[in-house]
Amino acid sequence: MTIPTAEVVSVRNRHAVVLCPYCNQRHRHAIERRGTTEHRAPACGLVRSSAQRVAGYRFTTEGEP
Ligand SMILES: [Zn+2]
Repeated sequence: MTIPTAEVVSVRNRHAVVLCPYCNQRHRHAIERRGTTEHRAPACGLVRSSAQRVAGYRFTTEGEP
């Protein structure tokens, strides 16, 4: 399946809060650095199908302010 994009709600320090395309809830992820696209398994993966868990989602943070 194609990998969906999660909307970035906010970025603070090295954490991004994204709007999950699977459950429409917010999930918080540690990020390597800002200004890149990252790929994550959904934080709600326990209740997702295995295909969704593997696909996860991508999100792109803006660069350092
Ligand atoms: Zn979710």
